[in-house]
Amino acid sequence: MTGRNPIETLAHLRHEFGEHGGVNMSIEASSTFTVIEPGTMPEMFQGLKGHDAGCYLYGRHFNPTVYNLSLQLAALEGTQAAYCTASGMGAITSAVLALCNADDHIVASTAVYGGTYAFMHDFLSAKAGISTTFVDITDLDAVRAAMTEKTKLIYTESVSNPTLRVANIPKLADIAHEAGVPLVVDNTFSPLILSPVALGADIVVHSITKFISGMSDIIAGAVCGSNEFIESLMDLHVGPLMLLGPTMDPKIASKVSLRIPHLPIRMAAHGERTLALAERLDDIGAKVCYPGLAHHPDRALFDELRCPDYGYGGVMTVDMGDEETANALMSTLQNKYRFGFIAVSLGYFDTLMTCSGSSTSSELTDSDKSMAGISPGLVRLSVGYTGTLEQRWRQLKSAYEDIGTGSAFARAV
Ligand SMILES: *Cc1c(COP(=O)(O)O)cnc(C)c1O
Repeated sequence: MTGRNPIETLAHLRHEFGEHGGVNMSIEASSTFTVIEPGTMPEMFQGLKGHDAGCYLYGRHFNPTVYNLSLQLAALEGTQAAYCTASGMGAITSAVLALCNADDHIVASTAVYGGTYAFMHDFLSAKAGISTTFVDITDLDAVRAAMTEKTKLIYTESVSNPTLRVANIPKLADIAHEAGVPLVVDNTFSPLILSPVALGADIVVHSITKFISGMSDIIAGAVCGSNEFIESLMDLHVGPLMLLGPTMDPKIASKVSLRIPHLPIRMAAHGERTLALAERLDDIGAKVCYPGLAHHPDRALFDELRCPDYGYGGVMTVDMGDEETANALMSTLQNKYRFGFIAVSLGYFDTLMTCSGSSTSSELTDSDKSMAGISPGLVRLSVGYTGTLEQRWRQLKSAYEDIGTGSAFARAV
């Protein structure tokens, strides 16, 4: 199976011009909207006239600028509909809460974003009696075995964080659909590279904060799915987006909208740079993990599923053995060679580095961390595209050699 090239859908999207003919859409900076006839108002509350007919009610419900950005996200993911949110967590929590009631059950990947893990492991169980079984998502038998009568969804990240395993979306979708439940995929790590819905998934969530924004200046998210599902998020009585209110500001929607057109160029640049650095590090004996490397366990699966135009993504990890050596590498890279920044998050134009076990995955219990394969010395690099490849390679190689010499890890190997 090959993923449908989602750029075709983006390229065919109707272009939204500004109010005065501007090439970019206007910002509808209003929290409330007028109607000509008072009778229109009750019709909107009854759902007879909606945003698709150009009728808007209130900014927490639908806003035209956020709606237009959402059309871009739907085109990006090849879904009927989408809606953008104030954060990735706003998108994830809303989608999950729309699918589960008290006492329901979720089957989720162990290697999910720390906030998602905490939401399912701690928050949902305590606040709503919704339980989650975390499984190694690459072990399809374990996924099948975890399904119960009460399971309402399977949840995975397209490429796991920070372990960089690729989810077998078609097979996971089969397991979900056999049980009559949706497969929800967090595609934050691989926009354009993987099109989960074309591969069988039902709902896609994004942290726009990362690659889609690309500048680490905005927190935002999106939920993509069927018309019916997106409408259900806005239900006046039980819609999580409507009632919990993780609403995207229209000014943010306008900014994000201007970044979607060059997302393809940026994803390709991240992928090209990361592959080159991963291969070179691998060649000098570093313990590199990157799904584009020939020896990565999911390289063949990734080739089967991905759109070939965008590479293998912008995140790689280097296992330095222990936290101390990992910290020494990051510190040398940042403070001696100016290779990148020690900071959480990813998808920035410059390189961001973290020691996952003690930062972005610290919400996981020690046993879930080891089950997920997150070693204490694992450095995650979200590789940027600034500078030239040769400049960046000189910095990375020098830092690695500075640290590698005499370190516990180098002695062990
Ligand atoms: C950052 C991230 C999130 C959370 O997104 P926010 O925009 O920070 O709320 C969710 N999933 C993944 C994979 C992420 O990297």
